[in-house]
Amino acid sequence: MVEVLGLRGIRKSYPSGDGETEILHGIDLSLQAGEFAALIGPSGSGKSTLLNLIGLLDRPSAGELAISGHATHALPENALTRLRGQHIGFVFQHHLLIPAFSALENVMMPLLVERGRPDANMHARAAELLTAVGLQERLHYPASKLSGGQQQRVAIARALAMRPALVLADEPTGNLDTHTADSIFALLRKINQEDGTSFLIVTHDPRLAERCDRIIELVDGQIVADRENP
Ligand code: ADP
Ligand code: MG
Repeated sequence: MVEVLGLRGIRKSYPSGDGETEILHGIDLSLQAGEFAALIGPSGSGKSTLLNLIGLLDRPSAGELAISGHATHALPENALTRLRGQHIGFVFQHHLLIPAFSALENVMMPLLVERGRPDANMHARAAELLTAVGLQERLHYPASKLSGGQQQRVAIARALAMRPALVLADEPTGNLDTHTADSIFALLRKINQEDGTSFLIVTHDPRLAERCDRIIELVDGQIVADRENP
């Protein structure tokens, strides 16, 4: 088995008053290639904090975090950025698209950042991804003219642009009506099954969590349950 994510004894504290408040109290977690896992737990339990650490957007206060076998503890900022770009895709509740840019331009952004200037392959890859998420008719629409569900599809295509081993999704359907949420969830599942991309999805919707292969539950900064969901 290939481990895409390994956490050992991860702790995270934030400064508070004249001391520190610990939010995550020693998280151990391993995710294998191809897993489709839900991360659930009450509001304030530390789900987003954990996702930001896994996504290398923030550093743990203690513990070791490995991405696709790369230990991250000692890496300088630029190496973390490279590792993030090559291995991790993000989907947030708020899509953070550039409104005036077309769907195609938004999906090309990570490729542009990586390679410095546009090329034909980049364009083809972005068009292929938008087709995969059902937006082949909307390539040149500005993001601002798309519906909420379509915008989230663009965000998913963008997250996949660099062929990440692991996609982190923080309440990706939190902003959408039930029907649209279902179809976005089905899309994530399809990508997982077709490409073997691993997913770790934060959701507060038990119905969606039950559609994942594994359900990890965080309460007060600790994993209190981690079960296969046959
Ligand atoms: P969840 O996503 O499960 O709702 P969060 O990870 O957002 O929970 O937050 C967990 C706890 O950490 C909350 O009590 C929150 O107030 C606190 N917290 C999150 N980010 C910060 C920060 N940057 N500084 C201080 N406290 C924070
Ligand atoms: Mg959160």
